[in-house]
Amino acid sequence: MEETGWTVSILAPRSLLDRPVRTALVAGGGMLLLLMLLLGLLMQRRRHYLERIALDSQARQQLELRVQERTQDLERLNSRLKQEVLEREQAQQELVQAQDELVQASKLSALGTMSASISHELNQPLAAIRNYADNAGVLLDHGRHDDARANLKLISQLTERMASIIAHLRAFARRDRHAPESVALQPAIDDALALLAKRRQAMQVELIRDMPDATLWVQAGETRLRQVLGNLLANALDALSEVPQPRRLWLSAELTAEGVDLHLRDNGPGFSQEALQRAREPFFTTKTSAQGLGLGLAICDTLMRALGGELLFANHPGGGAQLTLRLRAAAQGIKTQSPEDFVV
Ligand code: ADP
Repeated sequence: MEETGWTVSILAPRSLLDRPVRTALVAGGGMLLLLMLLLGLLMQRRRHYLERIALDSQARQQLELRVQERTQDLERLNSRLKQEVLEREQAQQELVQAQDELVQASKLSALGTMSASISHELNQPLAAIRNYADNAGVLLDHGRHDDARANLKLISQLTERMASIIAHLRAFARRDRHAPESVALQPAIDDALALLAKRRQAMQVELIRDMPDATLWVQAGETRLRQVLGNLLANALDALSEVPQPRRLWLSAELTAEGVDLHLRDNGPGFSQEALQRAREPFFTTKTSAQGLGLGLAICDTLMRALGGELLFANHPGGGAQLTLRLRAAAQGIKTQSPEDFVV
């Protein structure tokens, strides 16, 4: 104090000063701790985030790797499948070819066993032709022109019969160009019926059809199937010509586990006991030589077997003959007309 020259010292207890300092220090330390905690938290979150990104990218890489592996597996499987399909197609082709050759071989062997009967069948008219020709010469020498002309007519008829035998035999020997294909049954029946319509109408034969509306697809050949149907229908008309009215012809189809059974029944005299045993034999006939060659059912039987089907015949309990064509079912195909000619 200047006026007095005194110096006044005020002493305070240290504890009074320490407290604010400590408080400041504690507050500062607390703040620092908080900051460090915050910083630590942030660092941890960042690490987590980075770890997640790393994990994600690892997972993505693994996924991509697995996708690649799977794609490779699928490609390998695909090429194996393609290879298998190719092999199957090849095997199928070989099978069809083998079947074709087998059918041809069986036809040729049938032809072989038939050759004895064929030479007999052809030799008979040949011998008759020779006789008629020799006689015609003698008759001409004697000026009997009309008798000679009659002989020439008989010769002509006999050559027709021989030509007919040969035409039927062609059906056996012909190599079918096509493997069995999908054929619509109802149109084939219509075609076969159309060919015989005039004769059926002239004979007043009632046709009773019991066929499903939906087209039935069978394994066959257009031509071969029409040929078989034509032969069976012609036989039925022949049989019906032996009986008086009412003449009836039933056509019905039945779906079976393997395919389709087509039944043709007539109310004619039915098969004789001998015909039931022998009708499949070439040249077996109960008709006169002018009416029948005995080749129809033999050809039908061979054709049906070549198509993987069957021809069955029996007498119906209600009278008349019943023939059944057992045909294999086929996938739906395209309705076509075959250009091949055929013999009925
Ligand atoms: P074809 O008709 O030239 O005699 P097939 O081989 O067609 O030769 O027939 C052989 C025989 O089977 C006939 O002669 C006949 O006795 C008998 N047959 C065929 N179909 C019938 C039928 N629908 N009814 C009665 N008999 C039949």
